[in-house]
Amino acid sequence: MIQLLGQGFADCETPYEESRFVLFGAPFDGTTSFKPGTRFGPRAIREMSYNFESFIPEFDLDLGDLLVHDMGDLDLGVVPDEAVDQVAELAGQISSDGKIPVMLGGEHSVSIGSVRGVRPEVAVICDAHLDLRDEYRGSKYNHGCAARRIFEEGVRDIVIIGARSGTPDQYEFARNVTLYSADKVRELGIAEVIRKVDEFVGRRRLYLSVDADVIDCCATPGLGTPEPFGLQPLDIRTVVMAFAGRASGFDYVEVCPCDQGQTACVATSLIRLFIAAHWAFGAPPA
Ligand code: MN
Ligand code: MN
Repeated sequence: MIQLLGQGFADCETPYEESRFVLFGAPFDGTTSFKPGTRFGPRAIREMSYNFESFIPEFDLDLGDLLVHDMGDLDLGVVPDEAVDQVAELAGQISSDGKIPVMLGGEHSVSIGSVRGVRPEVAVICDAHLDLRDEYRGSKYNHGCAARRIFEEGVRDIVIIGARSGTPDQYEFARNVTLYSADKVRELGIAEVIRKVDEFVGRRRLYLSVDADVIDCCATPGLGTPEPFGLQPLDIRTVVMAFAGRASGFDYVEVCPCDQGQTACVATSLIRLFIAAHWAFGAPPA
């Protein structure tokens, strides 16, 4: 039989009803403050997905067997809070159907919607930036407000890993969250940070959000707001593999494909590893 390639994320062809994981894109970059282009993130990630073997050796699993459905991209408006509402509605639907939403950003503001839909008890956010502004450039749904909105909307237990940028006001507000700065991660080592976060999370319902700029911009330069002296791709791989098993939702945001593909390549690989690790370690949905 002649085999044709699909349009979606490679090897994710399970129908929605039978799926355990549901991928969707949120191609929104309306509040970008520096370099625009994260709206093209989902497209770059899907394109890169055809680079990889379907077999994932770390878990001895084939992605094609893991019941993943790719819904395509949301058609988002330009008003930030409305885009966030659209994301929340879809993520909430996927979550209430007992499936794990896996969102491809888009800028970080879309995570506010996904977290609202999933309703976790704890959020672990990997980011170069604190994203704890209450309001920025006229919107409370600016990408620089992502962690703050998640907090204000009721997820009071937030862990931020890898931060190295913020205003004095944001560092002040950061006393309300658990912060492991990039320098702190280097001091303690990622394994010790994971041990501490693991203790904090316990058996609670978790949401995991990765802002691509948590990784050092010298390694993955396809970013809207690059920052040097960050974490390494392997550090974030360790974080994703450690927490995927108990995550009720996941996103990888802020991929701005203006580089040679490094940023989308790391993102795509980590999305695959999230799914495989969740399959290997996670409880099947009730
Ligand atoms: Mn962010
Ligand atoms: Mn960031």
